[in-house]
Amino acid sequence: MCLRINQKYPRLLLMKINAWFVIASWVFIITFLVFLILGLANILKNEFVLVNSIYLFMFFAFGHIILGTCLKCPNCVKRPTVQGIKPVHPSADTKTGINAWSVVILNIVSKGKFKCIHCGRKYHV
Ligand SMILES: [Zn+2]
Repeated sequence: MCLRINQKYPRLLLMKINAWFVIASWVFIITFLVFLILGLANILKNEFVLVNSIYLFMFFAFGHIILGTCLKCPNCVKRPTVQGIKPVHPSADTKTGINAWSVVILNIVSKGKFKCIHCGRKYHV
């Protein structure tokens, strides 16, 4: 029915910030894991990067939790970047091995648009 409508997301700035917070948290958790492995293997010990990357990861992840719970789809009133245990909408964008909410984040950052994982409504940001 309404699945082909491509409307502007009402809180687009917050949605973009939310998406970039997720990207930043991914970067810092990967940095943490790389430096943890390098440190455990006695290849490179850099406690400054190790400690600060986990703090920055927690900061951006916490920011995403706050923003992700505040941002709702106007159509279904569910959270497009929060995926529970229920199956997502059949038309939700998925990529192999990546959860639907992560695809929403990647689409916001790379394409400036996303599809709600709960109702399939398309938005551009
Ligand atoms: Zn929705």
